[in-house]
Formats: sequence, structure tokens, C-alpha cells
Amino acid sequence: MQEVKNVPGDLLEKGAIVQRDRKTYAIAPHIPGGIIDAAGLRRIADVAEKYGAGVLKLTSAQRIAIVGIAPEDIDAAWEDLGMKPGAAIGLCIRSVKICPGTTFCKRGKQDSVSVGLKLDEIYHGMPMPSKFKIGVSGCANSCAESLVKDIGLIGSTKGWKVTIGGASGAKARVGEVLAEDLSNEQAFDLVKRVVDLYKASGTKKRLGSYIDEVGFESFKRDVTAP
Ligand code: SF4
Repeated sequence: MQEVKNVPGDLLEKGAIVQRDRKTYAIAPHIPGGIIDAAGLRRIADVAEKYGAGVLKLTSAQRIAIVGIAPEDIDAAWEDLGMKPGAAIGLCIRSVKICPGTTFCKRGKQDSVSVGLKLDEIYHGMPMPSKFKIGVSGCANSCAESLVKDIGLIGSTKGWKVTIGGASGAKARVGEVLAEDLSNEQAFDLVKRVVDLYKASGTKKRLGSYIDEVGFESFKRDVTAP
């Protein structure tokens, strides 16, 4: 295969991802929980129009990517947006996917929006050994795909179930149940323990693969130790 030279790559420091044409970029502002007001939505549309972006793409991480920005317009586009980039790539906590929960959904059993937004505030963009995703669902229907997230929260009438080690993609894995019937505060504490233990492990594997290596019961023992 012929070597391709001088092909531009992603501009991580600008939150810009090079597109298939290898000339233009996509930028995706951070929209916690995918919740945005009309003015914010309009601003994104205005920026797309102003800089000639071909399309807006709704992403699986509940963001809106502005696709087709020229490299020389990236800084100005961010300035006009007045928003922070979403952590779309890199070894960090990428996104906290949040379902509508008791705020909006008639089936909701727990307040996934406020719990998810708090987790987003604490963890979004935090450096990790591997890519890392969190999903918060207000009931067992798990619309935020909690079972295929590195950490998943699933609401019931009794509180939160916390699962760990889920992943979708090339090496799919269903998360395992770490604890059930937790209050909001207990769930926050457990998420912190999982994140801290994983960060201190020295592994470079994704959480589910690391759990496969050390054993779920061993990881659970360590994470729940007083
Ligand atoms: S997971 Fe449950 S609460 Fe959340 S959107 Fe789906 S049905 Fe509604």
C-alpha cells in the first residue's frame, strides 16, 4: 500500500477531529446529558452556517457534531460557540450518557438527570488508563445503555444498581453488577472508588478487560473494602 504523506490528523488541543476528506474537521461541543436550550441549539446552527459546515450530526454521546469546518476556522468557531469541547477521543472519561429519568420519563424510577449531570461535572474529560464511558438510566429499560458502559447506573424503586466493565465496540462486554439498592450518595461514593482503584491499578487495559485479568470478585473486594 502506498504511504500517504502530510495527511492532517486530529487536533486534540482544539477538540477537532479530521474528517474522511482529510481536509475538514468536526467539532462537538460538550452538551451534558444532551440537554440544551433553544438558544444553545440556535448558536450551534448559526456557527455551522457561518463556517459552511456541511451537516450537523447527532452523536451517540448525546452531542451535536458540527461537521466540515475548515482548519483555519476552528478557533473562531469555538469562540462563537462559547462552549467547551466534548471529550470525544483520547484516554479519558468520554461521556456520561443520561436518559430522561424521573425528570421527563413516565417510566423513570430514579433521577438519572441530576445524578448523571453531577457525574458529568466531576468526571467528564478526566484522564484514565483507557477510554471510559458512564451511562445513567432511570429504570431497568436502560435507555442510556448502562450495561455496555465502563460504569453503569440503573434505577429501581429501591435505588441504584451499579454495574462495571461494560463495553460496546470491537470487544463487547456486558457489565457485571457491583452493588444494588444504593442511595445517590452511596452510588457517587462507589463510582469514585471504582475510578480511583482503576486509575491506581497501573493497567492500560479498558476496565472490563482489566476485570477479566484480575477477576471480578477480587476487584469487587478491593473496591468495597473499608
Ligand atoms: S431508562 Fe427508563 S426512565 Fe430512562 S428513558 Fe428509558 S424508560 Fe425512561
